[in-house]
Amino acid sequence: MDIKYVSTRGDKEKVTASQAILRGIAPDGGLYVPETFPKLDKSLTELKGLNYREIAYEVMKLFLTDFTEEELKACIDSAYDSKFDTEEIVPMKEADGLIYLELFHGPTLAFKDMALSILPYLMVTSAEKNELKEKIIILTATSGDTGKAALAGFADVEGTGIIVFYPKDGVSPFQRQQMVTEKGKNTSVVAIEGNFDDAQNGVKAIFSDKALAAELKEKGYVFSSANSINIGRLVPQIVYYVYAYVKLLNEGKLSPGEILDVCVPTGNFGNILAASFAKELGLPLGKLICASNTNKVLFDFFKTGTYDRDREFTLTISPSMDILISSNLERLIYKLCDCDAAKNAKFMSELVNEGRYTIDKAMADKLTDFEAGFATEEDTLHTIKEVFDKTGYVIDTHTAVAAFVANEYRNKNTSHNKLLIASTASPFKFAGSVLKAMENDKVENFTSEWDKIRELERISGKKLPETARDIENAKVIHKDICAKDEMKALVKEKILK
Ligand SMILES: *Cc1c(COP(=O)(O)O)cnc(C)c1O
Repeated sequence: MDIKYVSTRGDKEKVTASQAILRGIAPDGGLYVPETFPKLDKSLTELKGLNYREIAYEVMKLFLTDFTEEELKACIDSAYDSKFDTEEIVPMKEADGLIYLELFHGPTLAFKDMALSILPYLMVTSAEKNELKEKIIILTATSGDTGKAALAGFADVEGTGIIVFYPKDGVSPFQRQQMVTEKGKNTSVVAIEGNFDDAQNGVKAIFSDKALAAELKEKGYVFSSANSINIGRLVPQIVYYVYAYVKLLNEGKLSPGEILDVCVPTGNFGNILAASFAKELGLPLGKLICASNTNKVLFDFFKTGTYDRDREFTLTISPSMDILISSNLERLIYKLCDCDAAKNAKFMSELVNEGRYTIDKAMADKLTDFEAGFATEEDTLHTIKEVFDKTGYVIDTHTAVAAFVANEYRNKNTSHNKLLIASTASPFKFAGSVLKAMENDKVENFTSEWDKIRELERISGKKLPETARDIENAKVIHKDICAKDEMKALVKEKILK
């Protein structure tokens, strides 16, 4: 089946997967979604003997139908190799009755590597397929983890350049250090005086600036996105849900057809949307539990049907989820509208103009797949400690948000389904907060981030991966800071310099 992609806001042009990947976002500001939704063409039992790369091919070929088998397999093999610190790519751990799917074994220690290690290959292949002449400039807003993962993926990739914007005070010390020491010659990293939403809005505004696009095209440049608005980010994220289910089948922990619930720590709604795509493919998933931190705009949406971004934004110990405008929710809203793009576009313009929208009852009635919960800062710290004390397993702050919400869901419901937690970051990436949770009285003794990491190594008995250790003494290369209304000027300057 040949799959075309359409904009959630009604742009008439249908595009191929490779065109959607190159563009990142549709010309009308909408997000690309598959016009028809594929189904797995092999049974899960048939997938049982396959490794991560092989399952990646079986899933991604269903969506990227204009890629040849050879092209897609080359992308997959280049991405999921020894950059990951384990042959399994995504190991699983059971602790205290929950199954943790460890999505952080890639080069930058967070789940963004799952998609961003392959996106550059997909992008370059797409450029070749479409005979693109221009250099691709990747513009990315990051709440901390996407930035480094995208930099690592695109660094020194021929025919591309990348500019990353991060909220100046909104990332962890480790995350900042990872980004500002990036060596790739085609990379720029800029702190903005604002939060993630400001960064993301700025980037989206640049994408939809037609005059700027025309000017830059003239000079040989086109923009694309490494954020999860790009379908090339979303599709690789479906793979690990299929892989996890098949592996649990293999190990006899699930029987064929058994329902598996999933709980995902959520920010931009990309990871949990990938889980719902996996379900739509035919994977026997049950509830998709959306876990928020105190920026609980999604929790409130699922409870009330009103999405309201007009509220106080707080910086939390799970900074990668500090987001009030969850871009990928638009793809769900579009589906709830039965693909009525005009209706979806109206909600999205209400969000911009009034700060909120309310879905109707018919739409809300279709949300039965989803559950939602949130964890306060205290809940998060307490959960890290509790899991460690009971089992010796150390989880990071984002994963702890999901673990708390998953336990709360279990206590309130009688479901006996097994529950999979998307474990999105290595605890070393948020060593200060994790240490505070585990040894509150001692954390003051460690002033530097690296002393905290060493103490965490000591008490957890785990080692920070070698690749991550390099940045301790790496030189700071990127020092730019800009106001949120200066982003466009800065992008032009960086490209045309
Ligand atoms: C990005 C991120 C999230 C949120 O994922 P979304 O796809 O944006 O919902 C959660 N945890 C970590 C560690 C992340 O980096």
